[in-house]
Amino acid sequence: MKTIGAHISASGGVENAPLNAKAIGANAFALFTRNQRQWTSAPLTNQNIRKFKENCGTDFSPSQILPHDSYLINLGHPEPDGLEKSRAAFLDEMQRCGQLGLDRLNFHPGSHLNKYSESACLAIIAESINLALSKTGGVTAVIENTSGQGSNVGYCFEHLAGIIEQVNDKSRVGVCIDTCHTFTAGYDLRTEKAFQATFEEFEKTVGFNYLKGVHLNDSKKDLGTRVDRHECLGKGFIGIGCFRFLMTDHRFNHIPLILETPDPAIWADEIKLLRSFEK
Ligand SMILES: [Zn+2]
Ligand SMILES: [Zn+2]
Repeated sequence: MKTIGAHISASGGVENAPLNAKAIGANAFALFTRNQRQWTSAPLTNQNIRKFKENCGTDFSPSQILPHDSYLINLGHPEPDGLEKSRAAFLDEMQRCGQLGLDRLNFHPGSHLNKYSESACLAIIAESINLALSKTGGVTAVIENTSGQGSNVGYCFEHLAGIIEQVNDKSRVGVCIDTCHTFTAGYDLRTEKAFQATFEEFEKTVGFNYLKGVHLNDSKKDLGTRVDRHECLGKGFIGIGCFRFLMTDHRFNHIPLILETPDPAIWADEIKLLRSFEK
């Protein structure tokens, strides 16, 4: 079975996220567990936690929820201050997920800011993950592939594999594949043949056993442009075929499939469209 949703708003409190997800007919969702544009946030209250669990009820289990960390965090930061700040914020996010009974946290791996090599950056990111995992339990660190915009690492499957290789507890590290990022990083997804070839390469390099979530986005930019600009499904350079192939592929069952497309007003329709492909 496919579980499909969107990165919905948690404004007014995390407990609103499952309600907002239900309202668009989703059976999965993504959320920020704190303000994603600030370094610090008020801790979750017992009431936030209780209501979140109550509102998830039997509709959303942890495998249907993909929390996303703050955009400020750079676990591969080349400078000690920035790195320390990022690691502290990431630990806080991992702990918040644990408090909410969630089992995974999705994050962008990091950027070298042109201060050192990609491989050095991957090693720092792995060390950041090791530190967070050593101080928490039950929450998996889910590395998202990137478009490779600016100095971001994580734009090729080898980068994801390179980080995983250096993580001590492989049972608590995973990956999230974003279709827009994959495509603009240079992996074609437009035809069934291209889709299969891309995911064969993913299987060979990383492995579907590490796949803990997918972001479903079309792209405003063309193949290999290394620019991260999401588009509504079927309206961008990837086209609707990719999403049809994905919805009939059992390797994408039982993980959160999350829309981050730019028009929340049509998320309910996009979910319906995706469900129609499943049959
Ligand atoms: Zn994404
Ligand atoms: Zn993106």
